[in-house]
Amino acid sequence: PEVARLIAAGEVVSRPLDVVRELVDNALDAGATRIEIELEGGGLSRVRVRDNGGGIGADSVELAAVRHATSKLEPVAGAVERVTTLGFRGEALWAAAQAGELHLITRPADQVGASEVWAQGEDVRVGRAAAPAGTTVTVRGLFAHLPARLRTQATPAAEVREITALVGRYVLHHPGLHWRLSVDGDPKLTHAPADHRGAVASVYGPLNANRVLRVESAGDGVGVLGVVSRPELTRARRDRMHFSVNGRPILAPPELEKAVIDGYAELLPAGAAPLCVLDITVAPGDHNPNVHPAKQVVALADLGGVAARVREAVAAALAQHPL
Ligand code: ADP
Ligand code: MG
Repeated sequence: PEVARLIAAGEVVSRPLDVVRELVDNALDAGATRIEIELEGGGLSRVRVRDNGGGIGADSVELAAVRHATSKLEPVAGAVERVTTLGFRGEALWAAAQAGELHLITRPADQVGASEVWAQGEDVRVGRAAAPAGTTVTVRGLFAHLPARLRTQATPAAEVREITALVGRYVLHHPGLHWRLSVDGDPKLTHAPADHRGAVASVYGPLNANRVLRVESAGDGVGVLGVVSRPELTRARRDRMHFSVNGRPILAPPELEKAVIDGYAELLPAGAAPLCVLDITVAPGDHNPNVHPAKQVVALADLGGVAARVREAVAAALAQHPL
């Protein structure tokens, strides 16, 4: 059981980036408008995510780090298919507590005192504290007691690069929030509420932001909202094509990348790829985020239909802005 437990936890949290993703998802699910991420030692020494969201009430806080405890699913058949939150498996805090030392301090705005939780392995302790409304989660000493896991980690610099790119994707897909990422005490990425263009400015600089066009289309239960770069700004790299489905940044399926490129038709040189940020919304039942514990792969019920809508939306945006 000990080994099975660590293997299951390792599927959710296998590196610092996983901790950041899960804690940020929780902050978003909690309705935060301000999310601050701090890394030390590439996240192995410390990951901290502070939010000003709804917090966890004192009556349920001791469940937060218990496996499969989630406040986000009704215990009824079909609930997963209708889920609208980023989390729903109730495994992230638990897995973080298996991988390192978890500390959480949280207060709903209407509660007088804050609660504090320490968890490591199956050991969970709860206390009372004072704190602003919201939640701060800290994970220290990631894999310190799992030498095999520690050996396979990337260098801190490489992990910081990937976490910075991940936070950049959150900023691009949730541009209406305050974001801050700091690394070993130095600010690395900051963003104040803006539209998608403003998020492109925060992540890729103002020059790129001046050269994106707005994409907006809705109907038939599919929404496409975001920006694409003007054709002359494209480059032969696909690492600037960003998609989210119902608020969750996803690993872009090749079908959606192709749909965007097809939307440019002959405007795009062969082999080139644009910069794009596209938020796709579908009805909750039309996608399934439960394909993998990391939830970055989303199965769309009608991928072909969504791809066609993306292509049309991009083509329409380009047609409205002649060269
Ligand atoms: P899940 O997100 O799948 O429900 P987690 O292990 O990530 O599972 O979190 C467990 C529970 O702890 C959540 O369902 C939620 O009730 C609470 N929680 C975790 N993080 C936060 C947060 N930042 N703000 C408010 N509640 C949180
Ligand atoms: Mg979660």
